[in-house]
Amino acid sequence: MFPQQTTVLIVGAGPSGMAAALSLHHQGIRDLVVVDAILAGQNFSRAMVIQAATLEALNSVDCLDGILSAGVKVEAVGLRDTSSDILSADFSLLAGHTKFPFAVILPQVKTEAKMLEKMEEEGIKVWRPYKVVSMKPSLRAEEEDLFEVQFESGEFIKAKYVIGADGAHSVVREQAGISFNDPDGDEKHDYGNLSQMAIADVAFTSEPQIFTSERKVSQTLSSGNMVLVSPFPPTASPDPTRTVYRLVSSVPVDLGTAPHEPSIEYMQRLVDRNGPAQLSSDPARNPNPVRIEKMYWSTRYRTRSAVAESYFAPRKPGVSGGFVLLVGDAAHIHSPMGGQGLSLGIRDGISLGPVLKAHIDRRADGSDAAADNLFEEWATVRHKRAVSVVAMTKKAMGVFVAQGKMWPPMLRFVFAVMRFLGGFKFMKRNVAYKLSGLGEI
Ligand SMILES: Cc1cc2nc3c(=O)[nH]c(=O)nc-3n(C[C@H](O)[C@H](O)[C@H](O)COP(=O)(O)OP(=O)(O)OC[C@H]3O[C@@H](n4cnc5c(N)ncnc54)[C@H](O)[C@@H]3O)c2cc1C
Repeated sequence: MFPQQTTVLIVGAGPSGMAAALSLHHQGIRDLVVVDAILAGQNFSRAMVIQAATLEALNSVDCLDGILSAGVKVEAVGLRDTSSDILSADFSLLAGHTKFPFAVILPQVKTEAKMLEKMEEEGIKVWRPYKVVSMKPSLRAEEEDLFEVQFESGEFIKAKYVIGADGAHSVVREQAGISFNDPDGDEKHDYGNLSQMAIADVAFTSEPQIFTSERKVSQTLSSGNMVLVSPFPPTASPDPTRTVYRLVSSVPVDLGTAPHEPSIEYMQRLVDRNGPAQLSSDPARNPNPVRIEKMYWSTRYRTRSAVAESYFAPRKPGVSGGFVLLVGDAAHIHSPMGGQGLSLGIRDGISLGPVLKAHIDRRADGSDAAADNLFEEWATVRHKRAVSVVAMTKKAMGVFVAQGKMWPPMLRFVFAVMRFLGGFKFMKRNVAYKLSGLGEI
């Protein structure tokens, strides 16, 4: 029987919602309901990388072992032009900062499956399909601190705390009246070729000679474009008989709008045009030409940056019911540059657990204002963090866009300087530190 009332309702069982659920449970909060609009496993895989700070956060709620055993550890991530390396982030140099001096490659569906396994182990159920359509304060005087949350099926639930973990098009955020805009107030920002991305899971005619045992992600910068390639871990591959690669490519503006499901030929064209020589099908560029032979899945998407005006909507006595909190894509979206979205969302969720527990405890002591301050502080920190991640991804996109417009001799000079600086350990460590999310929460 679906419960009619709960202390905490989590809307959305993506990575951020599950992280919040595990963290609340870890804090001893048991009166908790998690709902999701779709059935388990129906989401497609998007993110591939989990950063060190997020591994630490997952470890803090005992949800890391399954993820580590399914994923592949990467010590370095490289940025290159079409022929050779320019700069790399070396996560192994972070050993003094973390127990996990690496990033983990694992497709998002597998990360979600591992988190769900942990939830089931802890006895936390996800109610599906329960799609939230609206949310209003309860009208009964004795329930003035509750929201009444309505589902598409006509059912409803009353809750004191509603956590919006329902992704970029969050109904919770919209119902709470929280705005969601580019922090620079510039929705029309031009990311050139990087405004659209085509993404596909593919197998090649032969294994491209581009990866080493430490380096399993390659990102190529070419004429204002980006091509990223990374092999699936064998435990999470869509095809156990061969190596499958995740391919992400920007779509050059002159190609117009990318198809909904880019074909093998379309992806091959992008790779031949802007990818590393080792992935090229052209014998003139690649002595061991490779072609995309099989495609398992593909899609395209548009790059957009937005951050919720606030992660917390306080209760307004007599006007609104309970408390609204946002985590994950419901609170921030940005380009996938640097693989930050999933990692940041999981950290939002996990960081919320102790704060919500303290809020409940303080209110039980009658310290309502002090309790709300805890949420305000948490929301301010998370907001600041999201704004800085958005700025980082925009800066990275800016480098790609500028590179595409540069005079070739100037570009060669810039790359030479970057290669020179990139040879220093401090540079490899700094880039890794920035990507890892360490030093932040
Ligand atoms: C094409 C693409 C590529 C990406 N690549 C990367 C990458 O390389 N690296 C990276 O870190 N990130 C990447 N991201 C971003 C990453 O996937 C997200 O940051 C991550 O999924 C956020 O998790 P979430 O739990 O906040 O939201 P979601 O994963 O969107 O989960 C939201 C959940 O809420 C449920 N829901 C929605 N509405 C309702 C409702 N009304 N009622 C009930 N449930 C609801 C949904 O069914 C879903 O399960 C990519 C995103 C896209 C689209």
